[in-house]
Order: sequence, then C-alpha cells, then structure tokens
Amino acid sequence: MSGRVIVVGSVNIDLVARVPHLPRPGETVTGGSYERHHGGKGGNQAVAAARLRRPTLFIGAAGDDTFEKEVRRALMSERVDVSMMASLPGQATGVALILVDATGENQIAVVPGANGAIETGYVRDCLARLGPLSGDVLLVCNEVPLHVVREALVCGHAAGATTILNPAPATGIGRSIFGLADIVTPNRTELATLLETEADRTGRQAESAAADAAVRAKVLMDAGSEGPGVRKAAIVTLGASGVVVLERPDSGLGAVSAAAGERADPCEDADGLAAGVSAGISAGTPSAASGVGPSRDGRLRVWEVPANRVDTIDTTGAGDAFCGALAAALAEGRPLAEAVKRAVAAGALATTRVGAREGMPSAAELTAFLAARQIGSSA
Ligand code: ADP
Repeated sequence: MSGRVIVVGSVNIDLVARVPHLPRPGETVTGGSYERHHGGKGGNQAVAAARLRRPTLFIGAAGDDTFEKEVRRALMSERVDVSMMASLPGQATGVALILVDATGENQIAVVPGANGAIETGYVRDCLARLGPLSGDVLLVCNEVPLHVVREALVCGHAAGATTILNPAPATGIGRSIFGLADIVTPNRTELATLLETEADRTGRQAESAAADAAVRAKVLMDAGSEGPGVRKAAIVTLGASGVVVLERPDSGLGAVSAAAGERADPCEDADGLAAGVSAGISAGTPSAASGVGPSRDGRLRVWEVPANRVDTIDTTGAGDAFCGALAAALAEGRPLAEAVKRAVAAGALATTRVGAREGMPSAAELTAFLAARQIGSSA
C-alpha cells in the first residue's frame, strides 16, 4: 500500500514584529524589525509531508487578496498540490499578527479570514473528486470550521482513507468528534482542553508524564454518552518527553512487536494502565530502548516513544512536523509503531531550526538522522 497525504486545514501568512517591548492597550511601540513567514497548521503539515516525498494535496482556502498568490506559490514550491485550494471572493487570506519582545514573550492575534469561510460542500466535493481514497491518509486540523472538520473525517473514512484528527486548537471540540477519527494527535495542553481538565498532573500518583497522559488519553478511546471513542489510536505528543500511544489491538495499523516490555497481565482500569506504561518505559527493555516499549490493558496497547535528544533552538512547528511525518509514513504503508518513530524524529529535527515551516526536515535529513541513531524500520 502506498498512498497520498490529503491535508484539510488552514493556511496563513504570519506577520512577525520583533519589538523592544509589547505595547500596553492604546500604546504605540516604534522600532524593532519585521518578518513574514508562511504558516497555518494545514499548510505546515502539508509541507512536512511533501518534504518527505509523499504526494501531498492541500484542501483549504485563501482569500482574493495579494497574499493568496504568495501562499499558493509557497505551497507549490514545496511540491504540494494546491489544485483544490479555493480562492474565496470577498475574503482575506488568513493572517497571524505576532509581536515578540526582547525576552521572547509574545502577543498573537489570528484572523482566520478565508480559513473560517471554507464550506462543508466544498470539502465534500473535493474529496468526492479524488475518488476512492484507499491507501491514502487524510489529515485534518481544527483551524477550519468544526463542521468542515467533521465532514472531512466522515467523507474521508467513507472513501477508505485512514483519518487523522490533529485537534489543534482544541477549544470547542466536543467529545462526539472522537469516534469519527481513526487517530487523534493532541499535545499535552490540547489533551487537557479536550478533557476540560488542567494541563498539570491530575493528582493521581502517575510515575511519568507519559503514564499521566496515557491515563487521560484513555478517555478519548472510551465510548461515552456522545458516541464511540477514537477508532484506532490516540497519540499524545509530550514535547521533549516524546509521545505516548494508545492503540486498539485490532487497529489494523500494523503489528507492534510483542517484544519484551509488553505486559502479559492485562490491566483493566486506568491505574493499571498508568502502571503498565511506567513498566514498559522503566523496564529499559531492548524494545523500549529502540523506541517502543509496549504494554497493554485489556483493550489497548500502550507504549511510549522517548524524544530524540537534539540541540533544540525553537520548538515552533514541532507538532506540525510530527503530524505531517506521521501521515506520510502511514501513507507509505508503514506500521504505526514505525510511523510514530519517524514522526518523533521529524519533530525533534524541526526543533533544531528557527521557524515553523522552515524547520520541517527533508526526506534525506530524516533518513540520515534515523540511520545515525540506528532507529530501525521494524517495530
Ligand atoms: P506541539 O508543537 O503541537 O506543542 P510537541 O511540543 O508535543 O507538539 O512536539 C511534537 C513532537 O516533537 C514531540 O512529541 C517530540 O517527539 C518532538 N519534540 C518536541 N520538542 C522536542 C524537543 N525539545 N526535543 C526533542 N523532540 C521534541
């Protein structure tokens, strides 16, 4: 199986002013410098996948202003297919206005413009025109209207694609959407928002960030009054702590090796789950050392992949690099465990360079990085 990555999401121009200090309400601050960057989670994720040489298509919208040509050209120069990117009359292209002071503190205002005006019918028609999507991976972020996110997930699934929901930003996403996605990829803060809990520890005596996140993420996998849980896997990204994965054993996303570290005794409850993750991590088994230390409860396989140690300069865009690389690897037909390892490496590489889209690694860079660290292709 080898397919395309289809990204449904946002595209923005980021206007960044570096100023001596952040203005108070009503104050004008003069001086500093100004930069323009290409952004939007959808655009960034599409570039992340395309740089890894996966055929990648972007479905989204720009306005009918001068920025429209810029965002289109920027994606095309990265070999992203923009034939299904709409230019909406009367709309402005999305912009993020970012002020950064000398200490790195920032103020950000995002004006979604065309990203917020994209219509359900447009996305439905685009996906229908693409034909059967078997072997393809559909990646959707939440910087477009929620009804568009839902429609994309429903249509993508019906057409046979593997669907990934990157619930970013997580605000306003109700529980009923989880059951529409094969995979969800919140970061720690987004997970807390999805569960309407605080980002900090719950007070439960979890032994690590991964164990804590696993306990929380199990809620995404469980059926609730609003519908079923995530179909196949929840992957929580934990910044410099890597990721924790909760996968249904019958996910069909490729075998996780039943290597040492997998618990023989299923854990039925959340505490058992946390203990299981901790056991998988702390055991220091060969599988854990190579990035996979699976444990499982009665229904879920749970494993952690530690982050790769790198010289981090700027973590902006790490999550987008992760999502794009995950989608690319799954579209290449790689099993989930291997896809996650590649995505973790892509996320780490993205932090070694300044900027979000600028920092996305190429296929050659990712291959060299994996080889140098002897991160193999088997789970
Ligand atoms: P987001 O950018 O959405 O907040 P994260 O910060 O969780 O997402 O980063 C996504 C992934 O990128 C992490 O799971 C990790 O694998 C990798 N990553 C992020 N920060 C670092 C870091 N400082 N060092 C190494 N890898 C990192």
